[in-house]
Amino acid sequence: MWLSILHHISNIHSCDSADLYHQCAHPPLSNAEARTKKWLTLNSPAHEALKAVVMDRNLLKDIQQLSLCCHTGKLKVYHSVYTKYSPKRQHFSFKGMVARTQLTALDHNANAGRQQAYTSIGDNEGKPQYKVVFPKHTKKWVAKPVMAKTTQDHLKPMLDTVVARKSKKKTRKKFKDYKTCKHPSKYCKQTQASKRTSNCQPHIKICLNIL
Ligand SMILES: [Zn+2]
Repeated sequence: MWLSILHHISNIHSCDSADLYHQCAHPPLSNAEARTKKWLTLNSPAHEALKAVVMDRNLLKDIQQLSLCCHTGKLKVYHSVYTKYSPKRQHFSFKGMVARTQLTALDHNANAGRQQAYTSIGDNEGKPQYKVVFPKHTKKWVAKPVMAKTTQDHLKPMLDTVVARKSKKKTRKKFKDYKTCKHPSKYCKQTQASKRTSNCQPHIKICLNIL
């Protein structure tokens, strides 16, 4: 694929001699489009100079080590979310780590592929938001889209379930305490004032709650 640039730059977009790639990945160029571009003449000094660079042995070896042009930005974002749930300076149990890793994955999946943010007030209301950044490698100012804020809506059903389960357990515990309460029943029917003066406050409180 890399070597096909020598053909492409001379307005030759297919090649039978290559092992894997026999033509350029771009759509076919019309004659009008081809005329608007500057091509190198095959075997001209300029083409030979480019050929020397493209076919450099060391460069070809390095290209084989490239990671298939994969960008790691999204992976970095995932690791950032991961450290939010599992700070590196804290120790967690095995179960805790499993749960935190699962929460990280859920958070990432819920917020991946967010849409661009839109201005909600002012003269630019309804227009997409951008920020101006200066990447070190290109050293050129560029406008980068601002994405919508992350949400934690995916946690709400889980929190509701936890509260519901916890409430169930609490009710069972209260009932158990009531059954095993050995205090006279009159304490359990007292008003708030009598509870404060009683020495058996903890049990009475539980009994009153259930009655
Ligand atoms: Zn081409």
